[in-house]
Amino acid sequence: MSACKNCGKTLTPNEIGLTKKLVNRGSTEFYCMDCLCEIFKCDKELLEKKIEQFKKQGCVLFA
Ligand SMILES: [Zn+2]
Repeated sequence: MSACKNCGKTLTPNEIGLTKKLVNRGSTEFYCMDCLCEIFKCDKELLEKKIEQFKKQGCVLFA
């Protein structure tokens, strides 16, 4: 089970997928939604929209 590199929270598959999409496809270090918000200085709503968008595109990284 992967945990957030920053805060240690257990990650959902969507959070892992989002890190791969936003940070680095080959990343082995992942971040939770809250920490991704911090890193990208955006709100959670935007990241949730992004997940929906990637899902619609049929991205295999998202559950
Ligand atoms: Zn975190």
